[in-house]
Amino acid sequence: MPTITAKTKILAVIGHPIEHSMSPIMHNIAINDLKLDYVYLAFDIEPQNLSKAIDGFRALNIEGISVTIPHKEAIIEYLDEIDPIAKNIGAVNTIKNKNGYLKARNTDGAGGKQSLIENGCELSDKKVLFIGAGGAARALSYFLAEDVAQIIFLNIRKERSKLLAKELNEKTGVKTFADGISNKNLKKFCSTSDVLINASPIGMYPKIEETPVPKEFLYENLFVFDIIYNPLKTKLLKNAEDIGCKTLGGLDMLVNQGFLAFEWWTEKTPKKELMRNTVKKFLGIK
Ligand code: NAP
Repeated sequence: MPTITAKTKILAVIGHPIEHSMSPIMHNIAINDLKLDYVYLAFDIEPQNLSKAIDGFRALNIEGISVTIPHKEAIIEYLDEIDPIAKNIGAVNTIKNKNGYLKARNTDGAGGKQSLIENGCELSDKKVLFIGAGGAARALSYFLAEDVAQIIFLNIRKERSKLLAKELNEKTGVKTFADGISNKNLKKFCSTSDVLINASPIGMYPKIEETPVPKEFLYENLFVFDIIYNPLKTKLLKNAEDIGCKTLGGLDMLVNQGFLAFEWWTEKTPKKELMRNTVKKFLGIK
């Protein structure tokens, strides 16, 4: 444990609840490894206290803030500058405080896209199929829209996927399509897509025997990204591997969003592998 002095700079995550957050573990290990004079804390902020908390961050000069559920959207009205993609998404997860001036970004989507690129997924002019149309699908799809040719959303609530598809098309110009999730749609769109992204909780611990897409609809040339990180290898990923698809789990996205935030705050490059192994150990996942 490094010595905390009167000069130590403070970083923090806010959310409600917050006790299960992996951010303090992931960031403090990187801080210690680089011997930086920072400490990363967690604050449980109830929604009705959000504006007071923001005043507190300004007054106390807390230099970097990670934002998690349920504040990612509501916090925007209290900030000074939002990066253009985060503004379109309508949600932020990272804030940098420069003498009381609060700038924000969305590193969830950026981290997901970076993970795909680092793992050899071609994006340029490709067709991407999302399962789910919630917060994670929204953040990632806005970043992917910069490169891909078309984005399709299949979701339980058809209206939600249609709304996201419409907004994404209007704001970025990318071609979109949306519908409800059904075997007919899954079969049709899996066979004509290049990248499949599960951004729904189907297959997440403890329901690890579930998969959002039947195995027979997968084909060898599909890149399959499951953003779930517990378990590390979901049933969808196991099925995809059997068929010969390239696959990617959600741990890289989780680590990359933290990595990008850390670099932005400290202007230092943390060791991704160290952050990844620390999260795995903390979660006790295989
Ligand atoms: P969310 O905002 O609650 O959205 C979940 C989405 O999944 C909703 O669109 C929901 O549909 C849909 N869904 C649920 N069950 C479904 C089903 N049976 N078939 C089709 N769609 C279904 O949650 P989120 O924040 O986007 O998170 C989604 C998943 O991603 C979670 O498992 C979360 O742990 C994971 N995640 C991972 C990372 C990472 O860094 N790796 C980051 C964020 C999230 P409705 O709209 O109809 O309810």
